[in-house]
Amino acid sequence: MKELIEQEILRQGYTILRWKETLKDGWGVQVEKDGFYTTLFADEVMYEILKKELRQKNNKSIELKPCPFCKGEAELIEKYNRFYEVQDVFVKCKECGARSVSVWNKNIEIARNLVTDMWNRRATDEV
Ligand SMILES: [Zn+2]
Repeated sequence: MKELIEQEILRQGYTILRWKETLKDGWGVQVEKDGFYTTLFADEVMYEILKKELRQKNNKSIELKPCPFCKGEAELIEKYNRFYEVQDVFVKCKECGARSVSVWNKNIEIARNLVTDMWNRRATDEV
């Protein structure tokens, strides 16, 4: 997953300085472009990559891998956010309560696919 994110960042023309973990937003990458410094967050970059991939492939059936922490069964939680008028979808472990980031999208299919893909990639991550 890390290589995938770095590839995408390089493709966008940034120079990678270092990876760092922040309490609030998880893993980020400090980058430089044209003399400006900023931090790109891994989840956001991943989201962009997955959105792109999704446009290229057909919807496949949704199958969640077990929780990366406790191997418990995971479930898809879907809520409608009336204020922003979007579907709010995330994956939650039935055993330990670990959850993925929320994906907001007006299209429920896109939201489901994105969040499932993110969860399943994390479930197979060796980090
Ligand atoms: Zn769990």
